Amino acid sequence: MTGALLAQAYLALGGNVGNSRAILDRAVDLLCDGIEIRLKARSSEYRTPPWGFKYQSPFINLCIAVETELTPRELLARAQGVELQLGRDRAHEKRWGPRTADIDIIAYGDLTVDELGLTLPHPRLFERAFVLLPLAEIAPDRVIGGRTVREALDHVDTAGIERLLPFPSP
Ligand code: ADP
Ligand code: MG
Repeated sequence: MTGALLAQAYLALGGNVGNSRAILDRAVDLLCDGIEIRLKARSSEYRTPPWGFKYQSPFINLCIAVETELTPRELLARAQGVELQLGRDRAHEKRWGPRTADIDIIAYGDLTVDELGLTLPHPRLFERAFVLLPLAEIAPDRVIGGRTVREALDHVDTAGIERLLPFPSP
């Protein structure tokens, strides 16, 4: 591969169907193969009140930082491939309703994209405490859309979000 650019990207993962902590753990493993997508940092997991469609189980959310030579489109395709592998069924789900694993690209380097099917930085980032809180753990000083993650976090309501303790290692 010549001329491939190395990018630092941030992704947000969430789910509320099945054993979400185990499913999201698997999602990180499947996505970050260590070759084309390398895991650089991983936040704690958070239990967060449902968002969008209210009458559903709480979500588990976390964020990761990765390094990749994949293009944003390739990265999105990988993320959607992992969602499918973990049983996500887009055809039958409600928008912002229950799902096993949702993987969003929050930012890809400093790239701005506004295309059908891909917007970067993620357009709903600044409304989502369940993304900003885990993201602030791994990248508080990262500037996205003109402000740091820490500043953005100051403007959202984090009520009801609970940081989970890591599982003890086996
Ligand atoms: P949401 O993540 O907002 O809950 P979905 O996971 O169902 O909703 O995503 C809907 C669409 O959003 C996807 O088909 C995808 O093409 C598009 N999309 C646009 N920008 C992004 C992004 N930065 N990361 C992930 N998906 C994105
Ligand atoms: Mg999504």
